[in-house]
Amino acid sequence: MDRTSLDALAEAGRTTILRHARLIDGTGAPPRVAEVAVKDGAILAVGEGLAGDAALDCGGLTLLPGLIDAHAHLIYSGFRSLDEVDRQSVESATINGVLNAAKVLDAGYTTIRDVGTIGNVAATVRDAVEAGKVRGPRVVASGPIICATGGLGDTVPPHWTRAHGLGVLVNGAEAIRAEVRRQIRLGVDNIKLAASGVEVGPYAWTWMTTFSEEEIRVAVEEAHRWGRTVAIHAQSYDSVKFALRAGVDTIEHGTRMDDEAIALFARSDTVLVPTLSTLFSVLELGAKLNLLPKQREEMAVNEPLWLDSFRRARAAGIPIASGADLGNRYPHGANAREIALLVRCGMTPMEALRAATAVAARALRRADRIGTVEAGKAADLLLFDGDPLADIESLQDLARIALVVKGGRAVAGRLARG
Ligand SMILES: [Zn+2]
Repeated sequence: MDRTSLDALAEAGRTTILRHARLIDGTGAPPRVAEVAVKDGAILAVGEGLAGDAALDCGGLTLLPGLIDAHAHLIYSGFRSLDEVDRQSVESATINGVLNAAKVLDAGYTTIRDVGTIGNVAATVRDAVEAGKVRGPRVVASGPIICATGGLGDTVPPHWTRAHGLGVLVNGAEAIRAEVRRQIRLGVDNIKLAASGVEVGPYAWTWMTTFSEEEIRVAVEEAHRWGRTVAIHAQSYDSVKFALRAGVDTIEHGTRMDDEAIALFARSDTVLVPTLSTLFSVLELGAKLNLLPKQREEMAVNEPLWLDSFRRARAAGIPIASGADLGNRYPHGANAREIALLVRCGMTPMEALRAATAVAARALRRADRIGTVEAGKAADLLLFDGDPLADIESLQDLARIALVVKGGRAVAGRLARG
Protein backbone atom coordinates (compact mmCIF):
# COMPACT_ATOMS: atom_id res chain seq x y z
CA MET A 1 0.00 0.00 0.00
CA ASP A 2 1.76 3.19 -1.12
CA ARG A 3 0.90 6.86 -0.78
CA THR A 4 -0.17 7.15 -4.43
CA SER A 5 -2.76 4.40 -4.12
CA LEU A 6 -3.94 5.89 -0.82
CA ASP A 7 -4.35 9.28 -2.46
CA ALA A 8 -6.32 7.63 -5.27
CA LEU A 9 -8.90 6.60 -2.64
CA ALA A 10 -10.01 10.20 -2.41
CA GLU A 11 -10.17 10.91 -6.16
CA ALA A 12 -13.64 11.87 -7.33
CA GLY A 13 -15.45 9.44 -9.57
CA ARG A 14 -12.96 6.59 -9.02
CA THR A 15 -13.76 3.29 -7.38
CA THR A 16 -11.10 1.76 -5.15
CA ILE A 17 -11.40 -1.83 -3.93
CA LEU A 18 -9.98 -2.70 -0.51
CA ARG A 19 -8.92 -6.33 -0.90
CA HIS A 20 -7.77 -9.08 1.48
CA ALA A 21 -9.37 -7.67 4.60
CA ARG A 22 -10.82 -9.60 7.49
CA LEU A 23 -14.03 -7.64 7.86
CA ILE A 24 -15.87 -6.99 11.12
CA ASP A 25 -18.66 -4.89 9.68
CA GLY A 26 -20.25 -3.56 12.87
CA THR A 27 -23.59 -5.28 12.36
CA GLY A 28 -22.66 -8.08 14.74
CA ALA A 29 -22.07 -10.54 11.90
CA PRO A 30 -19.03 -12.79 12.42
CA PRO A 31 -15.75 -11.74 10.78
CA ARG A 32 -15.39 -12.69 7.13
CA VAL A 33 -12.97 -12.16 4.29
CA ALA A 34 -14.50 -9.53 2.06
CA GLU A 35 -13.78 -6.68 -0.32
CA VAL A 36 -15.03 -3.14 0.15
CA ALA A 37 -15.54 -0.76 -2.77
CA VAL A 38 -15.12 2.94 -1.95
CA LYS A 39 -16.22 5.74 -4.26
CA ASP A 40 -16.71 9.45 -3.65
CA GLY A 41 -16.29 9.15 0.10
CA ALA A 42 -18.89 6.42 0.49
CA ILE A 43 -19.02 2.65 0.56
CA LEU A 44 -20.29 1.52 -2.82
CA ALA A 45 -20.40 -2.22 -2.20
CA VAL A 46 -19.21 -4.98 0.12
CA GLY A 47 -18.65 -8.46 -1.26
CA GLU A 48 -16.32 -10.60 -3.33
CA GLY A 49 -14.88 -10.18 -6.82
CA LEU A 50 -15.68 -6.46 -6.92
CA ALA A 51 -14.37 -4.44 -9.87
CA GLY A 52 -12.88 -0.96 -9.64
CA ASP A 53 -10.33 1.50 -10.99
CA ALA A 54 -7.72 0.73 -8.31
CA ALA A 55 -7.11 -1.71 -5.49
CA LEU A 56 -5.59 -1.53 -2.04
CA ASP A 57 -4.25 -4.73 -0.53
CA CYS A 58 -5.16 -4.86 3.17
CA GLY A 59 -2.78 -7.78 3.73
CA GLY A 60 -5.25 -9.78 5.78
CA LEU A 61 -5.56 -7.11 8.49
CA THR A 62 -8.86 -6.52 10.30
CA LEU A 63 -11.15 -3.93 8.74
CA LEU A 64 -13.68 -2.27 11.04
CA PRO A 65 -16.02 0.70 10.82
CA GLY A 66 -14.24 3.84 12.03
CA LEU A 67 -14.75 3.92 15.79
CA ILE A 68 -17.22 6.31 17.43
CA ASP A 69 -16.97 7.82 20.90
CA ALA A 70 -20.40 8.99 22.07
CA HIS A 71 -19.17 10.97 25.09
CA ALA A 72 -16.21 13.28 24.59
CA HIS A 73 -15.05 16.70 25.77
CA LEU A 74 -12.38 17.97 23.38
CA ILE A 75 -11.42 20.78 25.77
CA TYR A 76 -10.42 18.41 28.61
CA SER A 77 -6.65 18.42 28.89
CA GLY A 78 -5.34 16.88 32.07
CA PHE A 79 -7.43 18.95 34.49
CA ARG A 80 -7.93 17.65 38.02
CA SER A 81 -11.31 19.31 38.60
CA LEU A 82 -14.17 21.11 36.87
CA ASP A 83 -12.88 24.27 38.47
CA GLU A 84 -9.64 23.82 36.53
CA VAL A 85 -11.59 23.11 33.34
CA ASP A 86 -13.37 26.43 33.83
CA ARG A 87 -10.11 28.34 34.30
CA GLN A 88 -9.39 27.91 30.60
CA SER A 89 -10.03 30.90 28.41
CA VAL A 90 -12.08 30.25 25.30
CA GLU A 91 -8.85 30.77 23.35
CA SER A 92 -6.87 28.11 25.20
CA ALA A 93 -9.89 25.80 25.13
CA THR A 94 -9.88 26.16 21.34
CA ILE A 95 -6.22 25.18 21.11
CA ASN A 96 -6.84 22.18 23.38
CA GLY A 97 -9.82 21.18 21.24
CA VAL A 98 -7.76 21.24 18.05
CA LEU A 99 -4.85 19.27 19.55
CA ASN A 100 -7.14 16.65 21.10
CA ALA A 101 -9.15 16.18 17.90
CA ALA A 102 -5.99 14.96 16.15
CA LYS A 103 -5.19 12.53 18.99
CA VAL A 104 -8.65 10.99 18.80
CA LEU A 105 -8.38 10.54 15.03
CA ASP A 106 -4.97 8.88 15.40
CA ALA A 107 -6.59 6.36 17.77
CA GLY A 108 -8.93 5.14 15.02
CA TYR A 109 -11.96 7.25 15.93
CA THR A 110 -13.64 8.83 12.93
CA THR A 111 -16.57 10.34 14.86
CA ILE A 112 -16.98 11.73 18.35
CA ARG A 113 -19.88 13.40 20.05
CA ASP A 114 -18.65 16.28 22.17
CA VAL A 115 -21.04 16.61 25.13
CA GLY A 116 -19.89 19.81 26.75
CA THR A 117 -17.56 22.61 25.84
CA ILE A 118 -16.59 26.18 26.66
CA GLY A 119 -17.90 28.93 24.40
CA ASN A 120 -18.65 27.29 21.06
CA VAL A 121 -15.40 25.36 20.72
CA ALA A 122 -16.86 21.97 19.74
CA ALA A 123 -18.79 23.32 16.75
CA THR A 124 -15.80 25.46 15.78
CA VAL A 125 -13.49 22.43 15.76
CA ARG A 126 -16.16 20.47 13.87
CA ASP A 127 -16.27 23.12 11.14
CA ALA A 128 -12.48 23.47 10.97
CA VAL A 129 -12.14 19.69 10.53
CA GLU A 130 -14.82 19.66 7.85
CA ALA A 131 -13.09 22.51 6.03
CA GLY A 132 -9.81 20.58 6.10
CA LYS A 133 -8.05 23.21 8.22
CA VAL A 134 -7.23 20.88 11.12
CA ARG A 135 -7.07 17.11 11.60
CA GLY A 136 -9.82 15.41 13.52
CA PRO A 137 -12.81 13.10 13.52
CA ARG A 138 -16.31 14.12 12.55
CA VAL A 139 -17.55 16.07 15.56
CA VAL A 140 -21.16 16.04 16.73
CA ALA A 141 -21.08 19.25 18.72
CA SER A 142 -22.80 20.46 21.86
CA GLY A 143 -22.52 23.85 23.50
CA PRO A 144 -21.86 24.41 27.19
CA ILE A 145 -23.76 22.00 29.46
CA ILE A 146 -27.10 23.43 30.56
CA CYS A 147 -27.11 23.18 34.37
CA ALA A 148 -29.15 24.47 37.28
CA THR A 149 -27.69 26.89 39.79
CA GLY A 150 -25.74 24.64 42.16
CA GLY A 151 -25.71 21.92 39.50
CA LEU A 152 -22.89 20.22 37.61
CA GLY A 153 -21.27 23.25 36.01
CA ASP A 154 -21.56 25.55 39.02
CA THR A 155 -17.91 25.58 40.06
CA VAL A 156 -17.24 28.93 41.73
CA PRO A 157 -17.87 30.22 45.26
CA PRO A 158 -21.39 31.68 45.67
CA HIS A 159 -20.10 35.25 45.91
CA TRP A 160 -18.24 35.04 42.59
CA THR A 161 -19.65 35.58 39.13
CA ARG A 162 -18.25 33.87 36.06
CA ALA A 163 -18.19 34.83 32.40
CA HIS A 164 -18.21 31.36 30.93
CA GLY A 165 -17.40 27.76 31.68
CA LEU A 166 -18.19 24.16 30.85
CA GLY A 167 -21.66 24.74 32.25
CA VAL A 168 -24.18 27.50 31.67
CA LEU A 169 -26.47 28.05 34.65
CA VAL A 170 -30.12 28.27 33.65
CA ASN A 171 -33.23 27.91 35.80
CA GLY A 172 -36.85 27.41 34.82
CA ALA A 173 -38.45 25.89 31.74
CA GLU A 174 -38.72 29.07 29.69
CA ALA A 175 -35.13 30.12 30.39
CA ILE A 176 -34.01 26.65 29.31
CA ARG A 177 -36.05 26.94 26.13
CA ALA A 178 -34.30 30.24 25.36
CA GLU A 179 -30.86 28.71 26.04
CA VAL A 180 -31.60 25.74 23.78
CA ARG A 181 -32.55 28.16 21.00
CA ARG A 182 -29.44 30.26 21.63
CA GLN A 183 -27.23 27.19 21.27
CA ILE A 184 -29.06 26.03 18.15
CA ARG A 185 -28.37 29.43 16.61
CA LEU A 186 -24.70 28.87 17.44
CA GLY A 187 -24.86 25.73 15.33
CA VAL A 188 -24.76 22.90 17.85
CA ASP A 189 -25.95 19.43 16.84
CA ASN A 190 -26.80 18.24 20.32
CA ILE A 191 -28.04 19.76 23.56
CA LYS A 192 -26.39 18.57 26.77
CA LEU A 193 -28.26 18.96 30.02
CA ALA A 194 -27.09 17.99 33.51
CA ALA A 195 -30.09 16.72 35.43
CA SER A 196 -28.20 15.46 38.46
CA GLY A 197 -25.17 16.41 40.50
CA VAL A 198 -21.71 15.09 39.71
CA GLU A 199 -18.95 13.59 41.88
CA VAL A 200 -16.58 16.41 41.05
CA GLY A 201 -18.96 19.36 41.65
CA PRO A 202 -18.99 21.33 44.89
CA TYR A 203 -22.72 21.79 45.50
CA ALA A 204 -24.71 18.82 44.22
CA TRP A 205 -24.09 15.14 44.97
CA THR A 206 -24.79 12.51 42.32
CA TRP A 207 -27.89 11.27 44.13
CA MET A 208 -29.43 14.76 43.86
CA THR A 209 -31.72 15.67 40.97
CA THR A 210 -31.01 19.23 39.82
CA PHE A 211 -33.69 19.77 37.18
CA SER A 212 -37.42 19.16 37.36
CA GLU A 213 -39.11 16.86 34.89
CA GLU A 214 -40.74 19.90 33.30
CA GLU A 215 -37.39 21.61 32.72
CA ILE A 216 -36.01 18.49 31.03
CA ARG A 217 -39.16 17.99 29.00
CA VAL A 218 -39.00 21.53 27.60
CA ALA A 219 -35.34 21.11 26.62
CA VAL A 220 -36.05 17.86 24.78
CA GLU A 221 -39.20 19.18 23.12
CA GLU A 222 -37.45 22.33 21.91
CA ALA A 223 -34.31 20.55 20.68
CA HIS A 224 -36.30 17.90 18.84
CA ARG A 225 -38.48 20.45 17.10
CA TRP A 226 -35.27 21.90 15.65
CA GLY A 227 -33.94 18.51 14.64
CA ARG A 228 -31.33 18.36 17.39
CA THR A 229 -30.61 15.54 19.80
CA VAL A 230 -30.40 15.70 23.60
CA ALA A 231 -27.95 13.98 25.95
CA ILE A 232 -28.66 14.07 29.66
CA HIS A 233 -26.13 13.70 32.45
CA ALA A 234 -28.16 11.56 34.85
CA GLN A 235 -26.70 9.89 37.94
CA SER A 236 -29.67 10.10 40.33
CA TYR A 237 -32.69 7.80 40.27
CA ASP A 238 -35.17 10.54 39.38
CA SER A 239 -33.00 12.24 36.76
CA VAL A 240 -32.90 9.04 34.68
CA LYS A 241 -36.67 8.59 34.90
CA PHE A 242 -37.43 12.25 34.19
CA ALA A 243 -35.17 12.14 31.13
CA LEU A 244 -36.66 8.89 29.82
CA ARG A 245 -40.20 10.20 30.21
CA ALA A 246 -39.16 13.33 28.35
CA GLY A 247 -37.93 11.22 25.40
CA VAL A 248 -34.23 12.07 25.60
CA ASP A 249 -31.87 10.54 23.02
CA THR A 250 -29.15 9.38 25.41
CA ILE A 251 -28.65 8.92 29.13
CA GLU A 252 -25.06 9.67 30.15
CA HIS A 253 -23.60 7.60 33.04
CA GLY A 254 -26.94 6.15 34.30
CA THR A 255 -25.36 5.56 37.69
CA ARG A 256 -28.60 4.90 39.57
CA MET A 257 -31.36 2.98 37.83
CA ASP A 258 -34.12 1.18 39.70
CA ASP A 259 -36.57 -1.35 38.22
CA GLU A 260 -38.93 1.39 37.10
CA ALA A 261 -36.11 3.15 35.23
CA ILE A 262 -34.98 -0.08 33.54
CA ALA A 263 -38.57 -0.82 32.46
CA LEU A 264 -39.01 2.72 31.10
CA PHE A 265 -35.66 2.45 29.33
CA ALA A 266 -36.52 -0.88 27.70
CA ARG A 267 -39.70 0.63 26.23
CA SER A 268 -37.92 3.74 24.94
CA ASP A 269 -35.70 4.50 21.95
CA THR A 270 -33.06 5.98 24.28
CA VAL A 271 -29.45 4.75 24.29
CA LEU A 272 -27.36 4.39 27.45
CA VAL A 273 -23.80 5.75 27.45
CA PRO A 274 -22.44 4.32 30.72
CA THR A 275 -18.96 5.96 30.51
CA LEU A 276 -17.27 3.27 32.61
CA SER A 277 -13.99 5.16 32.13
CA THR A 278 -15.39 8.01 34.23
CA LEU A 279 -15.83 5.56 37.10
CA PHE A 280 -12.65 3.49 36.72
CA SER A 281 -10.33 6.43 36.03
CA VAL A 282 -11.24 8.00 39.38
CA LEU A 283 -11.04 4.67 41.23
CA GLU A 284 -7.67 3.95 39.63
CA LEU A 285 -6.04 7.39 39.67
CA GLY A 286 -7.85 9.23 42.46
CA ALA A 287 -5.03 8.90 44.99
CA LYS A 288 -2.21 9.28 42.48
CA LEU A 289 -3.63 12.47 40.99
CA ASN A 290 -4.82 13.72 44.39
CA LEU A 291 -8.36 14.21 43.08
CA LEU A 292 -10.90 16.02 45.26
CA PRO A 293 -12.02 14.05 48.37
CA LYS A 294 -15.72 14.46 47.47
CA GLN A 295 -15.12 13.02 44.01
CA ARG A 296 -13.23 10.00 45.36
CA GLU A 297 -15.67 9.35 48.20
CA GLU A 298 -18.73 9.62 45.97
CA MET A 299 -17.16 7.42 43.32
CA ALA A 300 -16.51 4.70 45.92
CA VAL A 301 -20.18 4.86 46.95
CA ASN A 302 -21.31 4.90 43.32
CA GLU A 303 -19.16 2.03 42.02
CA PRO A 304 -21.50 -0.86 42.97
CA LEU A 305 -24.60 1.13 41.96
CA TRP A 306 -23.07 2.07 38.60
CA LEU A 307 -21.97 -1.47 37.75
CA ASP A 308 -25.30 -2.92 38.86
CA SER A 309 -27.22 -0.41 36.71
CA PHE A 310 -24.98 -1.19 33.73
CA ARG A 311 -25.41 -4.94 34.11
CA ARG A 312 -29.18 -4.74 34.53
CA ALA A 313 -29.48 -2.43 31.53
CA ARG A 314 -27.50 -4.91 29.44
CA ALA A 315 -29.61 -7.82 30.68
CA ALA A 316 -32.77 -5.90 29.73
CA GLY A 317 -31.49 -5.46 26.17
CA ILE A 318 -31.12 -1.69 26.42
CA PRO A 319 -28.79 -0.38 23.67
CA ILE A 320 -25.46 0.65 25.18
CA ALA A 321 -22.95 2.90 23.41
CA SER A 322 -19.27 3.42 24.11
CA GLY A 323 -18.35 6.87 25.39
CA ALA A 324 -15.20 7.45 27.38
CA ASP A 325 -15.49 10.96 28.88
CA LEU A 326 -11.72 11.25 28.40
CA GLY A 327 -9.09 13.89 28.63
CA ASN A 328 -8.62 14.70 32.28
CA ARG A 329 -7.58 11.37 33.86
CA TYR A 330 -7.26 8.92 30.98
CA PRO A 331 -5.85 10.98 28.08
CA HIS A 332 -7.38 11.64 24.68
CA GLY A 333 -6.39 8.84 22.34
CA ALA A 334 -7.06 6.21 25.02
CA ASN A 335 -10.71 6.10 23.92
CA ALA A 336 -10.62 2.36 23.25
CA ARG A 337 -10.05 1.78 26.96
CA GLU A 338 -13.82 2.19 27.30
CA ILE A 339 -14.36 -0.69 24.86
CA ALA A 340 -12.12 -2.89 27.01
CA LEU A 341 -13.95 -1.80 30.17
CA LEU A 342 -17.29 -2.73 28.62
CA VAL A 343 -15.88 -6.24 28.13
CA ARG A 344 -14.38 -6.36 31.63
CA CYS A 345 -17.84 -5.51 32.99
CA GLY A 346 -19.66 -8.22 31.07
CA MET A 347 -20.06 -7.49 27.37
CA THR A 348 -18.75 -9.87 24.74
CA PRO A 349 -16.01 -8.37 22.55
CA MET A 350 -18.41 -8.25 19.58
CA GLU A 351 -21.01 -6.44 21.68
CA ALA A 352 -18.41 -3.94 22.82
CA LEU A 353 -17.26 -3.33 19.24
CA ARG A 354 -20.86 -2.69 18.25
CA ALA A 355 -21.15 -0.28 21.20
CA ALA A 356 -18.33 1.72 19.62
CA THR A 357 -19.69 1.50 16.08
CA ALA A 358 -23.31 0.70 15.15
CA VAL A 359 -24.86 1.39 18.55
CA ALA A 360 -22.86 4.58 19.02
CA ALA A 361 -24.09 5.71 15.59
CA ARG A 362 -27.62 5.02 16.78
CA ALA A 363 -26.98 7.06 19.93
CA LEU A 364 -25.92 9.96 17.71
CA ARG A 365 -28.99 9.36 15.50
CA ARG A 366 -26.64 8.90 12.54
CA ALA A 367 -27.02 5.18 11.96
CA ASP A 368 -28.11 5.90 8.39
CA ARG A 369 -24.66 7.37 7.61
CA ILE A 370 -22.02 5.82 9.88
CA GLY A 371 -21.33 2.90 12.24
CA THR A 372 -21.19 -0.09 9.90
CA VAL A 373 -19.32 -1.18 6.78
CA GLU A 374 -22.28 -1.45 4.42
CA ALA A 375 -23.13 -0.07 1.01
CA GLY A 376 -24.41 3.49 1.23
CA LYS A 377 -22.57 4.40 4.43
CA ALA A 378 -19.74 6.90 4.62
CA ALA A 379 -16.35 5.33 3.95
CA ASP A 380 -15.20 5.65 7.58
CA LEU A 381 -12.90 2.70 8.16
CA LEU A 382 -10.27 1.42 10.54
CA LEU A 383 -7.66 -1.06 9.33
CA PHE A 384 -6.32 -2.74 12.45
CA ASP A 385 -3.26 -4.95 12.80
CA GLY A 386 -4.64 -7.57 15.17
CA ASP A 387 -7.79 -9.35 16.24
CA PRO A 388 -9.84 -7.22 18.64
CA LEU A 389 -12.26 -10.13 19.18
CA ALA A 390 -9.41 -12.25 20.57
CA ASP A 391 -7.74 -9.39 22.46
CA ILE A 392 -9.99 -6.40 23.05
CA GLU A 393 -7.26 -4.57 25.01
CA SER A 394 -5.12 -4.50 21.87
CA LEU A 395 -7.36 -1.79 20.37
CA GLN A 396 -5.60 0.65 22.71
CA ASP A 397 -2.25 -0.08 21.06
CA LEU A 398 -1.83 2.83 18.67
CA ALA A 399 1.02 1.05 16.87
CA ARG A 400 -1.62 -1.37 15.56
CA ILE A 401 -3.63 1.41 13.89
CA ALA A 402 -2.60 0.64 10.31
CA LEU A 403 -4.95 3.00 8.49
CA VAL A 404 -7.84 5.32 9.31
CA VAL A 405 -10.11 6.32 6.43
CA LYS A 406 -12.66 9.08 6.93
CA GLY A 407 -15.09 9.98 4.17
CA GLY A 408 -12.93 8.02 1.72
CA ARG A 409 -9.70 9.80 2.68
CA ALA A 410 -6.68 8.17 4.32
CA VAL A 411 -6.30 10.45 7.34
CA ALA A 412 -4.30 8.55 9.96
CA GLY A 413 -2.44 5.35 10.75
CA ARG A 414 1.08 4.20 10.00
CA LEU A 415 0.32 3.44 6.34
CA ALA A 416 -1.05 6.95 5.78
CA ARG A 417 2.12 8.40 7.30
CA GLY A 418 4.08 6.37 4.74
ZN1 LIG B 1 -18.75 14.10 30.42
